[in-house]
Amino acid sequence: MLKSPYAGGHLEVIVGPMFSGKSEELIRRINRAVIARQQVAVFKPALDDRYHADAVASHAGRSLDALPVPDAAAVRAVLNGEGSLLSAGPARPDVVGIDEAQFFGPELIPLVLELADQGVRVILAGLDLDFRAEPFGVMPELLARAESVEKLTAICTVCGAPATRSQRLIGGQPARFDDPVVLVGAQESYEARCRLHHDPGR
Ligand code: ADP
Repeated sequence: MLKSPYAGGHLEVIVGPMFSGKSEELIRRINRAVIARQQVAVFKPALDDRYHADAVASHAGRSLDALPVPDAAAVRAVLNGEGSLLSAGPARPDVVGIDEAQFFGPELIPLVLELADQGVRVILAGLDLDFRAEPFGVMPELLARAESVEKLTAICTVCGAPATRSQRLIGGQPARFDDPVVLVGAQESYEARCRLHHDPGR
């Protein structure tokens, strides 16, 4: 086998709005690493349990085994082979994938930098912008520190143009800018929108 081109460590970030194919792209890259006989470990925040509790699932139905974790400390513990999660994956993977990275706290940053410094290829997928089109949590710093960044677009549900934003709708109407992120009992949904058709609710 040729030496991996990522043997020196690498941080890759895949971003875009909802429905832009971030999960599909993460799945594609991880599958190719598996074909190259690399050891992989994939994580996702435990709060996202759409379709499967133990997989990265795309809106188009493709999926990949992933370990749900409450925070970055749990990722570190698994990779250090600590606790009962040890059986979940190889202790020293060549490739670490993390989906929905925007939901992790700031402690994700030192962890992924440390992994990349140790020679691991780290692939992160997540929303660059929240529903107000404001930078989302840890993502700006991860984008700045990555060796490679891929910005994907979805299709605007209003006009069919490339969509860079996620429209939050509550009862079919644009959410207000200062609406709480979790609204108990509300009927909420999201649509991909271009800049023109995105309403941040101000
Ligand atoms: P993400 O992880 O970015 O939310 P996924 O990989 O889960 O995206 O899903 C992408 C898939 O969603 C597309 O391949 C397509 O089948 C589907 N899809 C549904 N609505 C849209 C839309 N408005 N624009 C683009 N793709 C869409």
